[in-house]
Amino acid sequence: MATDCLFCRIVKKEIPATIVAENGHCIAFRDINPQAPTHILVIPRQHVASLNEAKDPVVIGQMHQMAVQLAKAEGLSERGYRTVINTNADAGQTAFHIHLHLLGGRRMTWPPG
Ligand code: 5GP
Ligand code: ZN
Repeated sequence: MATDCLFCRIVKKEIPATIVAENGHCIAFRDINPQAPTHILVIPRQHVASLNEAKDPVVIGQMHQMAVQLAKAEGLSERGYRTVINTNADAGQTAFHIHLHLLGGRRMTWPPG
């Protein structure tokens, strides 16, 4: 846990968030500034700053597993959805506790901006 990390504070329930799923490994909550009708962030409970620091591939798998379950719960599995991890400046990462964006409910464009 990093005491100065916003998402660690959400894990510890020190900061409110609309939590949609949690298990022993991950927690998922709605993005405060949604970019699609469904915009959920899936994070590991343990503090990992970015994909560059993610040494345990199991954690990455657990995040994706929860995203797949949430996509189903949100009714997105068939029509489709997008999962994104932004890493560092060029990708626009602003929160340095690794998070998987689950976006859906509208047609996505490609390439991303
Ligand atoms: P990044 O740009 O780092 O990939 O994504 C960070 C995301 O966290 C952004 O989509 C932003 O809207 C979201 N976010 C930032 N602060 C908060 C917060 O306090 N609560 C919630 N629910 N989302 C947040
Ligand atoms: Zn953290």
